[in-house]
Amino acid sequence: MRFALTLPEWLDALDAPPQGFASDEDAMRFAIDAAARNIDDGGGPFGALVLDARNRLVAIGVNRVIAAHASCLHAEMVALLRAQQRLGTHDLATCGPHTLVSTCAPCAMCLGAIPFSGVRTLVCGADGADAEAIGFDEGAKPPDWVASLVERGIEVRRDCLADEARALLLRYRDTGGRIY
Ligand SMILES: [Zn+2]
Repeated sequence: MRFALTLPEWLDALDAPPQGFASDEDAMRFAIDAAARNIDDGGGPFGALVLDARNRLVAIGVNRVIAAHASCLHAEMVALLRAQQRLGTHDLATCGPHTLVSTCAPCAMCLGAIPFSGVRTLVCGADGADAEAIGFDEGAKPPDWVASLVERGIEVRRDCLADEARALLLRYRDTGGRIY
C-alpha cells in the first residue's frame, strides 16, 4: 500500500520571501495567515513552518486532522514530515540548524515528536492553555515541557504574536469549527 497525504494545493503556492523571514514575527504572521486560510478550507486553526538556518521556508504545515481523517496531522507534524521528505532525512539536524515555528504551543504528541525531528529551535504563538480554553485536547503534557526541550538542546521562544494566534483559535470556535 502506498501511503500519501493529500494536502491543499494552495499550501505550496504561498509566497514566502526567498531571502528568508526577517524576524520570528514575520514567520509567525505567515504561519497564522496559512492557518486562517486552512480554516476556510475545512482544516483546523493551526499552522507551522520549518525554517533553515537563514530563516528560509523549508516546509509549511497546517492542521488537516478532520479533512484527512488522520489524528496525527497536526500542523507541526505536517511541517516536520514535509521538511524531512524534502531534505531526504529523518533527522533535520544533519542538514543544519532548523527552526519549527508554530501558531500554538505543542500538544503532547507534537512535544514528543519535536526532539526526534532534529529541529534546534521552537517558536510558539498561542499557549496550549489557549487551545484548551476553546476545548482542544492538548494531551498529557508535563508542566515543565519547555525545560524538557531545553534539556535536549532545543531552544524555545514563546508568545510570538500570541494575541493574533489566539484570535485565530477564537475565530475558529466562533465560526462553528469542530473541536477535537
Ligand atoms: Zn500537536
